[in-house]
This record gives sequence, C-alpha cells and structure tokens, in this order.
Amino acid sequence: MSIIVIGAGGHGLSLVYHLYKKGISDIILIEKNRIGYGSSGRNASRFRYHFNSKENVNFAIEGIRFLIRESKEMKYNPLLLKTGYLWLLDNENIDIFRKLDKTWSSLGVGGKFMDCNNFDFLKYGETCYFAPQDGSFHHDYILYSYFEVIKDKIKIIYDEVEKILVDDKVRGVKLKSNKIIDGDIVAVTAGAWSSLLINDVPIYPEKKEIYITENIKFKVKPLVIDTNHEIYLSQTLKGEIIGGIEDKKDYSFYPFTISLENTIKFLKGVRNLIKGTEGIGILRGWSGYYEMTPDHSHIMGYSNNWPDGLYIDAGYSGHGMMFSPFSGKIMADLIADNIKSKFINIFSPDRFKNNQLIQENMVI
Ligand SMILES: Cc1cc2nc3c(=O)[nH]c(=O)nc-3n(C[C@H](O)[C@H](O)[C@H](O)COP(=O)(O)OP(=O)(O)OC[C@H]3O[C@@H](n4cnc5c(N)ncnc54)[C@H](O)[C@@H]3O)c2cc1C
Repeated sequence: MSIIVIGAGGHGLSLVYHLYKKGISDIILIEKNRIGYGSSGRNASRFRYHFNSKENVNFAIEGIRFLIRESKEMKYNPLLLKTGYLWLLDNENIDIFRKLDKTWSSLGVGGKFMDCNNFDFLKYGETCYFAPQDGSFHHDYILYSYFEVIKDKIKIIYDEVEKILVDDKVRGVKLKSNKIIDGDIVAVTAGAWSSLLINDVPIYPEKKEIYITENIKFKVKPLVIDTNHEIYLSQTLKGEIIGGIEDKKDYSFYPFTISLENTIKFLKGVRNLIKGTEGIGILRGWSGYYEMTPDHSHIMGYSNNWPDGLYIDAGYSGHGMMFSPFSGKIMADLIADNIKSKFINIFSPDRFKNNQLIQENMVI
C-alpha cells in the first residue's frame, strides 16, 4: 500500500507521523513550498474548548486531551500553557454567553462571569467571561517534532501536485514538473488550497493579518477577545503583544502582505484596551489564510461519491493548528486500520449535500 500525502502543514505532518508509528513507511509527502508554508507556520498558537456547536466542543475536548498527552512525547517542547480566554461582554452579547455557558458547563468546560476590574491590565470595567481551561502552545515545535521523526524515514518531494489521478480508484498524482507519482491512497491535507485538488470540497481562503508588538512587562496572560472593537490579543512569555483584528475580506488567495491601515487599527486597539501600552510599536506582522467552509467546521475522512483511496483532512478555519495532532491520529487509524472514529461521520464532506451542517459561529 503506497500512500501519498499532499501538504506539509500540521495536518499532513501529523498524518505521516501517525502512519509511520504504525509501521508504515511506503509514504510520499509532497509539499509545493516548504514545511509550514501555509497556516501552520502563520497562526496565533492558541487552543480552546469554547465553540458554539456541541460537535466542535466535543472534538476539542478529545483533541486537546490528545494534544496535551502527545506534547509530552514530542522531541521539542511545544510549551503548552493554560492561560485562559477572556471575552469582554456588553448588554448585547451577555445573554448569548449565558446560554453558551450552560452548554459548556454541561460538557464539563464551563467558565465564569467576572467583573473585568479583576484583570488589572484592562481598560474595560464591565462584565467579562473567563474560560480558564483554554491556552497557548508553540506551533513550530509541533511541526518540527513530527518532521524530525519522519524526514529520513519516508520520501519527501518538494513539488506542486497539479492533479489527482483516478479511474475507478485513486492511481496517484501528477506534479507540476510533469512527473507522475503512483499511489493507492491520496490524502489531501493542503489547507486552504484543498479544493483546488478536490473540486467538490467547499474550502475557501480568507486572508487574515496578525501582528506582534515590542515587548512590555508580562501581564496579559489570557487571550482577550473584544468583539465590539473587533480585536483579539494576548502576550507572549517574552512580553510581546500578539493578535489580530476583524477584517472581513472576500474569499480569495490574496498575497501574504499586511496593510498599514490594519496595522494601525490593531495598534490603536491595543492602546485602547491595555494599560501601559501608550507609545508601544509594532515589531512585525504577517498574514495567512483561514480555510473557510460553508458551516465553518472542518472536513475529514472521505465522501461516498469519491473513488476508493481518496481522503481529506482540511478546512479548519482559524483553529486547526491545535487539532493537527488529534486529526492526524484519527486519519491514520482510518487509512491504515479502517478504524472509523465517530468524528469521521460527523465532519464528513457529505454533510453539505445531506444538509447536516455543523454551524460554527465562534471563529476568532
Ligand atoms: C492568522 C492565523 C491565526 C490562527 N490562529 C490559530 C490559533 O490560534 N490556534 C489554532 O489552532 N489555529 C489557528 N489558525 C488556524 C491554523 O493555523 C490552521 O487551521 C492549520 O494550521 C491548518 O493546517 P493544515 O495542515 O491543514 O494547512 P496548512 O498549514 O495551510 O498546510 C497546507 C500545506 O499544503 C501545501 N500545499 C497546498 N497545495 C499544494 C499542492 N497542490 N501540492 C503540494 N503542496 C500543497 C501548502 O504549501 C502548505 O504547506 C490560525 C490561522 C491563521 C491564518
């Protein structure tokens, strides 16, 4: 059995790693650019249990448990920290959070409503919702922990897959260099580019910018989300403020640039929200794509309408890095051992035509 994995982001590397751990080494990983070129090298490195759909909360409960366990075995320490998430509330969204908290509490991940004055770094004195279970990690150490294990054990090709070759079943792929690579199984883990390879998969790129400031004394431990001022931010251990702003754009492969206007909006947001940040400057900024699906939930497994041997794991919008260890394990169990996790049915690509959407509105 020869397995081709397309895309060396968190999901592709994790899948290859978990297949390799099962004793399979006839694997070809194909990457068009470099390890972590996509969103896996461009994210904010946060994990959270708090989604509005029960399906995503349940996926997060199992996914984060797996992330915590696996991080202890990784070659590089991905620095998992429980920092919490802190939502700033007003009259409009407080009722929404009361409802959400009931659901979260029933699933064992309830948070608490607090006076924001308890967080003395904030220039906001109303009600906050604090979710202490959530936290941060470092994406590069996850990527390179997997990469270090597999890099000499399987074949890696740096080229772009142009087409997946099929007749009644998967036959392999054609590369941009015109080479044909044979394979019995093709797994697409190409992030925002996945629907260029499987046309009936609805995954669209939404460009997002992210910035980091100069460092100041560490005080913003949780990830702070202010939906009214359309900003999220936190602090690195070193003291830089990292975050982004709401910037709704059409779905398109816009270049990986950042705009001065958005950078200023972020900087103003930081200064309005966090005490002692007057005069602080931006150190750097970058951008990446959220991989958006119609219901904002990810797509994993296979479709009953696809040829045998074709699989996908992609479309995680703005929260897929934390899930990459878990999804790689689920996908490896499916591909190698035909073990079908309950999540394969729930997040199936067939849910769109079967009208079984998992509507997820908590995309940060
Ligand atoms: C600004 C930002 C902030 C984020 N914050 C968080 C966060 O705090 N927490 C979190 O969990 N997630 C976050 N995310 C989301 C997370 O980064 C992604 O969901 C996750 O990294 C997706 O991983 P992936 O492996 O599926 O895709 P990617 O990392 O995008 O990898 C896909 C790879 O496929 C390659 N590829 C594409 N097409 C081809 C082809 N035809 N042939 C060969 N190779 C190909 C690409 O070059 C790329 O390397 C954020 C994303 C962004 C952009």
